Amino acid sequence: MQEKGLLIVLSGPSGVGKGTVRKEIFSQPDTAFEYSISMTTRKPRAGEVDGVDYFFKTKEEFEELIRQEKLLEYAEFVGNYYGTPVDYVRETLAAGKDVFLEIEVKGAKQVREKFPDGLFIFLMPPSLTELKNRIVTRGTETEDIIHNRMLSAREEIEMMKLYDYIVVNDQVEHACERIKAIVMAEHCRRERVEHIYKKLLEDE
Ligand code: 5GP
Repeated sequence: MQEKGLLIVLSGPSGVGKGTVRKEIFSQPDTAFEYSISMTTRKPRAGEVDGVDYFFKTKEEFEELIRQEKLLEYAEFVGNYYGTPVDYVRETLAAGKDVFLEIEVKGAKQVREKFPDGLFIFLMPPSLTELKNRIVTRGTETEDIIHNRMLSAREEIEMMKLYDYIVVNDQVEHACERIKAIVMAEHCRRERVEHIYKKLLEDE
């Protein structure tokens, strides 16, 4: 029987650098997990490509996907919908591959309820000042949005208790190394693998 893949969820407050860390992880040739591309109603930013960065949808299209239960989770974040297509996740896990989600905290909470044995990693800013600097220097957001994102960030950080691991994003390369090490260790966790080795004993 094909072993199921691991569902890896990377989350954390807005502006912590989840997207940057995710892009770095997937730019490394030895990365063996599959990225689940999200759906969103947000407008593409300069350089973003439909079907690569996101599947860009209208509000009506997105609400239809919600109705059809095509999303594993979804959340409204600063006025837009974001969600994870469920079929891709289930099919990829069933094929024995690890799936990587990079999503905000409300969505991660829903995934935890549906996949309690997923691997939940919380990306933490080195400080709140650092977090604000990152949101401001990204330069794509208005003052109002920055203010809203900082308010959400405080609430979001309090949700770290729902996670298995906390990784500080002090330097992108270091955060990526820690995440990959966690995934590697998780694949060796006794609860996940002992049935394979028990079977070996039975086969003797
Ligand atoms: P941005 O607009 O900066 O690309 O993303 C805003 C927030 O939405 C980020 O925290 C990002 O991780 C999160 N996000 C991206 N895709 C998804 C998704 O499929 N579901 C949820 N719940 N959040 C998402």
